[in-house]
Amino acid sequence: MSYNIWHPYTQMQTAGVPINIVRGEGAYLYDDTGKKYIDAVASWWTNLHGHAHPHIANAIAKQASTLEQVIFAGFTHPTAIKLADRLLEKIPYHDKVFYSDNGSTAVEVAIKMSLQYFWNKGEDRKRIIAFRDAYHGDTFGSMSISARGVFTAPFQSYLFEVDFIHTPNKHNAAEVKQQLRNLLSGDEQSGSPFRELEGAGKHAAFIFEPLVLGSAGMLMYDADVLDDLIAICKEAGVLVIADEVMTGFGRTGQFLATDYCSNKADMVCLSKGITGGFLPFAATTCTQKIYDAFLSEERAKMLFHGHSYTGNALGCAAGLASLEVFDMDNTWQHITRIVAQHSAFAQSIANHPSVSDVRQMGTIIAIELKTDTGYLSSIRDKAYNYFIERGILVRPLGNIIYLLPPYCIRKEDLEYIYATMLQFLDSLADGNS
Ligand SMILES: *Cc1c(COP(=O)(O)O)cnc(C)c1O
Repeated sequence: MSYNIWHPYTQMQTAGVPINIVRGEGAYLYDDTGKKYIDAVASWWTNLHGHAHPHIANAIAKQASTLEQVIFAGFTHPTAIKLADRLLEKIPYHDKVFYSDNGSTAVEVAIKMSLQYFWNKGEDRKRIIAFRDAYHGDTFGSMSISARGVFTAPFQSYLFEVDFIHTPNKHNAAEVKQQLRNLLSGDEQSGSPFRELEGAGKHAAFIFEPLVLGSAGMLMYDADVLDDLIAICKEAGVLVIADEVMTGFGRTGQFLATDYCSNKADMVCLSKGITGGFLPFAATTCTQKIYDAFLSEERAKMLFHGHSYTGNALGCAAGLASLEVFDMDNTWQHITRIVAQHSAFAQSIANHPSVSDVRQMGTIIAIELKTDTGYLSSIRDKAYNYFIERGILVRPLGNIIYLLPPYCIRKEDLEYIYATMLQFLDSLADGNS
């Protein structure tokens, strides 16, 4: 077979032949031999209501035969207008929606909005604050505000300076808050070569993954800490960006993860689940205050950003249909049921000899395996293959196996996944003894 595709995040020499998926239905994927897989990671955190959901598929088909795409400068279309209204109903403290194509661009837009916001106002605020373990995407801007590590090493010298603060955990809340306060008051030396950018009043924005840092290994922290960090930024006049690309659309048990906080972000980045997992599409929402800073008689003050497919009509149609499915399919009841199932399973394995930590936030559960670091890379492949052989798609992050299923996943399918997980944990415990 000639095979001409270069796959993402894949070492092509050792990866082997990719599984050829020819059909999807509900939480299941079917390969070209007819083998069925339960999609326990919602196809890279995108799918909400199941594969090929007929309501979303029909909405896209209907839109495609009406209007598929139109230039979004000087023109608009009814589906884009309606989706913006629906999204703002869910984020009532925001007033404007800026569309783009994927999570990284939703983040780029928020970063550019915050930098140009201060530029337009003639204020010298240029620095960005982020969590040390953050992941915000793969473009240069979003890489810059993400954890520096193996993903970013080859590009390091082209990434802009960022002030990283510790990622909150169960023990360090006071320390993280103090670190942020010190940074904002100019007491903390950031070690930046740009000395003129140091000191109080130099920060434009604080960006974070609310409550769950996905790519870092489903690291979780409390809404209370986040609420305080947001408040500290607001007091200092620093804009706050919630990257809800993974956590949005019910993932954590609320519509947004920041719905658990009483202090609100100035900008919210949405993608992944926004179309129910059907199409590459994204939105950055913001307050009237941000939007107003770009209004002027001068064209030079407009937001300098846009993509060919900004506001794509098929993406908008899928987005609207996906929001409708929440009501049609009683999605919130399913979410509540998944949360309860996960929570019972988490308790049942908390003291398992192969488990060093189990954590849960809404429909996300992460199991950290007890392994020595040397073993780290091989446990990932071992776990991946163990589950694939048994018809379950998981994609461990190192020694962390997590489940992040489509909300339509059946009770019995989750039970089968838990049973398989327990067998896997037992096999590790036997192997270790
Ligand atoms: C996946 C992800 C992104 C990047 O989204 P892409 O669509 O892959 O570019 C950004 N932020 C978070 C929190 C993510 O999980």
